Amino acid sequence: MKDTIVLYPFPAIGHLVSMVELGKRIICHYNHRLSLTVLISGNSFNSAAINLYIDHVSLTDPSITFHRFPALPNPPSLPPSPTIHPVAIPLESIRLNNANLLQTLQTISETSSVAALVIDFFCHPASPVATELNIPLYYYFPNGASTVAMMLHLPNLHNQTNKSFSELGNTTVIQIPGLPPLRASQMGSSLLDRTNQVYDKMLDLGKNLLKSKGIITNTIEALEPKAINAVRNQAPAIFCVGPLLAEPKDQYSAADCLSWLDKQPSRSVIFLCFGSLGVFSVKQIAEIAVGLERSGQRFLWVVKNPPPIGGGKMQLSAMDFDLEAVMPEGFLERTSDRGLVVKSWAPQVEVLNREAVGGFVTHCGWNSVLEAVCAAVPMVAWPLYAEQHMNKEVLVEEMRVALPMEAEEEDGFVIAAEVEKRVRMLLDSEEMREISKSCQEMKEKALAAWAEGGSSRVAFTELAESWNRG
Ligand code: UDP
Repeated sequence: MKDTIVLYPFPAIGHLVSMVELGKRIICHYNHRLSLTVLISGNSFNSAAINLYIDHVSLTDPSITFHRFPALPNPPSLPPSPTIHPVAIPLESIRLNNANLLQTLQTISETSSVAALVIDFFCHPASPVATELNIPLYYYFPNGASTVAMMLHLPNLHNQTNKSFSELGNTTVIQIPGLPPLRASQMGSSLLDRTNQVYDKMLDLGKNLLKSKGIITNTIEALEPKAINAVRNQAPAIFCVGPLLAEPKDQYSAADCLSWLDKQPSRSVIFLCFGSLGVFSVKQIAEIAVGLERSGQRFLWVVKNPPPIGGGKMQLSAMDFDLEAVMPEGFLERTSDRGLVVKSWAPQVEVLNREAVGGFVTHCGWNSVLEAVCAAVPMVAWPLYAEQHMNKEVLVEEMRVALPMEAEEEDGFVIAAEVEKRVRMLLDSEEMREISKSCQEMKEKALAAWAEGGSSRVAFTELAESWNRG
């Protein structure tokens, strides 16, 4: 009977793409002697981008089977409310889809042997199904080992206080083995408030991670050695298989920014892009625009539809909008000889690998970090949500591949003078020369990881062997 590996990504594009890349490696490793099914839970972030991506991969990589669970219109235990954490609904849907998961795995098992169920760490509510069916369970972190270290240490931190991290705020320093010191406010955004609907599930994840057969993470031994060692001391079965990056052929690319980039001088353009979900208020957009204009540097800037007043920093579904209306008056014309503003989306992997790009202002999403590392592009770290504040510390303090963007403590607002300063530094400063050097070294290590005998290739082979052993 042919074996099947089942992957269950969290339905947000940054999580999905990374896991599908893992799937492609699995198919290649087994030379198609194994089936691969990717399960998609219906309640997703930015479902338009997800649908486009799945349609595309289904055509170009037909050996990957996608199986969709229905969207749940209103998960009964979570009535619609403005105070609900954005991750809560998709997470609850995963729990409510457990009956579908059970049935799907049973159906697959009729004709195939399920060698492993690999779930995104956010899909933790699905873990009881693996136990019930006695299927080996693995957790996948599309993030770095620093996130794994944070999750593993969460139960200890939880027991040390009755307060939420948000209450402990900027003054309390948190020590997590393997990580630079963090302020409590820099913990993952779903962990900040212990009364929200996601915190409990993440706490439960932290308590149960070590019961799984293994933890797979999209990192490289050479990138985060301290965090990896700290995790390995607790969880010997950690498989660092990065970098798993989006293939340019799979990235949506409507914008004609690549031909514009090709006309710019080498290493002269600053690329500003804040992930699949990151958004700024009109006021913040105006401040960035002033900073960019005063810097006098070339730039390529991806701007998304600003949220309504008081809205968060994540845009959960893409909406068309009038770009001119959200930009400061006259900005686009005044900077048209050296800047390009792209609406909503740019093909980031291709952009970062263009000769013209000299620096990247990023929200520190882990895919973006790996993509920049593999292109040796120095970064300015401007974290917005999820585990990005922690990533910023790792990038600046440990990996030394980024400069920090200094923001107002209470609301994360960044003033124009700071944008101007960092953009100038990105293209010409002593600090940047140091950072560029580490970027180049990191790139070489990242590229070596999947070469013959490289650390990620070895880890992946060990992972596959653990599946063969059953
Ligand atoms: N991305 C892109 N173009 C954009 C914005 C994002 O291609 O305009 C891709 C980016 O290359 C990365 C992913 O979307 O692969 C974003 O993942 P990341 O982990 O950086 O951030 P998230 O969106 O999950 O916060």
